[in-house]
Amino acid sequence: MINLDLTEEQLLLEASVREWAAREVAPHIRECDREHRFDPRVLPQMADLGLLGVCVPAEYGGAGMDYLALGIASEELEYVDTSLRVILSVHVGLNSLSLLAWGTADQKQRYLVPQAQGRKIATFGLTEPAAGSDVRGIQTVAIQQGDRYRITGEKMWISLADVADNFLVFAWTDLEKKRVRDTSGISAFIVERSMPGFSSATLKEKWGILAGNTGSFKMEDVEVPSANMVGRPGEGFKIAMFALDQGRYTVAAGATGLIRACRDASAKYARERKTFGVEIGEHQLVKEMIAQMESDYQAARLLWLRAGWLKNEGRRNTRETGLAKWFATVASERAASDAVQVHGANGYSDEYPVGRFYRNCKGAVIYEGTREIHKVMQADYVLGYRTDRPTRCDLPPMQPTVASR
Ligand SMILES: Cc1cc2nc3c(=O)[nH]c(=O)nc-3n(C[C@H](O)[C@H](O)[C@H](O)COP(=O)(O)OP(=O)(O)OC[C@H]3O[C@@H](n4cnc5c(N)ncnc54)[C@H](O)[C@@H]3O)c2cc1C
Repeated sequence: MINLDLTEEQLLLEASVREWAAREVAPHIRECDREHRFDPRVLPQMADLGLLGVCVPAEYGGAGMDYLALGIASEELEYVDTSLRVILSVHVGLNSLSLLAWGTADQKQRYLVPQAQGRKIATFGLTEPAAGSDVRGIQTVAIQQGDRYRITGEKMWISLADVADNFLVFAWTDLEKKRVRDTSGISAFIVERSMPGFSSATLKEKWGILAGNTGSFKMEDVEVPSANMVGRPGEGFKIAMFALDQGRYTVAAGATGLIRACRDASAKYARERKTFGVEIGEHQLVKEMIAQMESDYQAARLLWLRAGWLKNEGRRNTRETGLAKWFATVASERAASDAVQVHGANGYSDEYPVGRFYRNCKGAVIYEGTREIHKVMQADYVLGYRTDRPTRCDLPPMQPTVASR
């Protein structure tokens, strides 16, 4: 049975995130963006709303909602600003849900619970100065010494690098496999900011998502107990790819929110601005841009809803999530560009939000698999060059707790 109606609980979440972001964030976002300032006050407020553990089961400190709730929150947050959705992507999507699926009972108690409650903030460290799409190119190594690993390396372009407490880090534990670029030599670890040898910095030259924190972190001989390894030795690459299934989902739903924001801002402006004696919305070429935003919004939404539904069912969704992410981010770039166009010169100034949308949308076309990587993946599925093998650990299936209206 396909049912696209949101449940009462999901509708309530949608309304409360929408109301909170409009009240608490929208009035200040232009200022934060202009000042390149991350506002840490949003974190406890997001925790109070239950967003930092939105789809983490209550037994692990979360709100116990389903995966569609994560998508709903992502869409609503990015409607106001991408920086808000990024928090959800790294903290919940990439980090906490990986611990939920792959973490030990002890790791869940020590890390997942405080993260889901919002007492600790988490992120995901895969990318390095010389390795993004090509994960095999990472240089970080973790050398085992008794019941500890000593990690050395640098991670770059990390969301919340200067804010997070806990980091899901990927490093080579088998140096022979590193030499031959065999990904079964990569392992995953939980690293804490407080561990000696850890340092981080904020990236200053970024030109989008300016109200978000992005940076780098270094690990110089950081001693990590073996109990902080997530999964088994050599499962790091699989865990990274698993994490991306959840991160990409939040990016897809977020980009859908950005398309809606572009659509709404453009429709409003098109009713206000007049040229040649009529509202610009009366001109067919302006209508065309707004119609494209509407069709992209509706299609992007259906795609992330399908991916979320598959997650709820406990079914593999790498292909569907990748498609949702690719489609929504590329469409959001088109929508943001056209939203600036609809606003004419006013769109080229900070007086209107569409310029910010235009700068913000581009990041998502790059991170969590670039447009090109996703294109290749989708072609490979169709061509039969790529199939998904079962992973050892999965997310628990989840169902919405309240019946549909
Ligand atoms: C704002 C922002 C936040 C980020 N946050 C995080 C984070 O929290 N954690 C994290 O680990 N990373 C993060 N990243 C990093 C991001 O995931 C990488 O930038 C991304 O994976 C691309 O890697 P790259 O920048 O090294 O580009 P490259 O891999 O060097 O790619 C450069 C170009 O070559 C193309 N290309 C590369 N390989 C192929 C191929 N095989 N076929 C066709 N084209 C190809 C790419 O599509 C791209 O156009 C973030 C990035 C940004 C911009």
